[in-house]
Amino acid sequence: MENYKHILLAADFFGLGEVVATRAKDLADRYQAKLSILHVLDSLPLIDPAYGPVIPFDMDLTAELMKAAKKRVAKLGEELGVPEESQLIEMGSPKLEIVRIAEEKNVDLIVVGSHGRHGFALLLGSTANGVLHHAKCDVLAVRLQDS
Ligand code: AMP
Repeated sequence: MENYKHILLAADFFGLGEVVATRAKDLADRYQAKLSILHVLDSLPLIDPAYGPVIPFDMDLTAELMKAAKKRVAKLGEELGVPEESQLIEMGSPKLEIVRIAEEKNVDLIVVGSHGRHGFALLLGSTANGVLHHAKCDVLAVRLQDS
């Protein structure tokens, strides 16, 4: 089997995310592979309980979220020794963007957590499941235990 050359860490900054990050970093070191970080800002419309999806896109809010995301990705990049050009932020559906970026950047291994924001009720979280189904490269779902 060939060594992995480019590993993509999908970081959601939720719960046990550092376990996933540590595993991705460890694999990148072992394989002497390039490591990239991707965080996706979910662009689902904001829902008002009374009016339904009323705010499809709020520019100020988006700019603030982007600023906060950049800070967190930069901090993680510093911790993992990932240079700025490999710290990626996209907007959209996390699973679609993770798969798209992996193809665009010639990634050969995507590292995700088994569960993130979308809860432990499922065997695999919806993002991990979607990436597993659609990615053209290998996917490692790092098992995260509830509690
Ligand atoms: P979930 O399917 O939301 O439970 O998340 C499972 C895993 O998918 C997380 O541990 C992350 O590795 C990845 N993931 C989820 N949401 C995002 C996101 N917005 N950006 C990057 N990776 C994500």
